[in-house]
Amino acid sequence: MDTCIFCKIVKGEIPCYKIYENKDVLAFLDIENDVPGHTLIIPKKHLTDLDSCDEKTYQKVLSTAKKLTKHFLFLGFDGVNLVSNCKEASGQIVQHFHIHLFPRKTNDEAKLTMQPAKQKETLETVAKKLRLED
Ligand code: 5GP
Ligand code: ZN
Repeated sequence: MDTCIFCKIVKGEIPCYKIYENKDVLAFLDIENDVPGHTLIIPKKHLTDLDSCDEKTYQKVLSTAKKLTKHFLFLGFDGVNLVSNCKEASGQIVQHFHIHLFPRKTNDEAKLTMQPAKQKETLETVAKKLRLED
């Protein structure tokens, strides 16, 4: 897409600090520079979010997440968080599917917290509403 910032990064129109690349996937440092090594993994083709991502592309992005997780652990990190926001309500700002990878160190000061509104329903009620049969 012409206006998509991540498509521009794929095309080299906007610079990035590349961490990994293959034919279909690109991984680069998040511009925020918050958690050291905060990496974004994206499909090279424009797909808005997880909901619109085809299964094959999703597998390629996820397999890169696993590859980089192993790489970060090999480099001496102690853990990794994977986060993906799907749609604006979840906090998705860039409308090009991506997974955040946060390399972690034991006792680092990073805090990935979520403070949703207080739950008013029981687990049983919630499970009844959400259950999906295969
Ligand atoms: P979201 O909230 O959509 O899941 O996260 C989008 C992420 O993209 C944010 O963490 C933001 O810092 C990052 N980001 C936005 N614009 C750019 C950019 O031009 N370059 C890079 N490297 N990251 C960006
Ligand atoms: Zn895009």
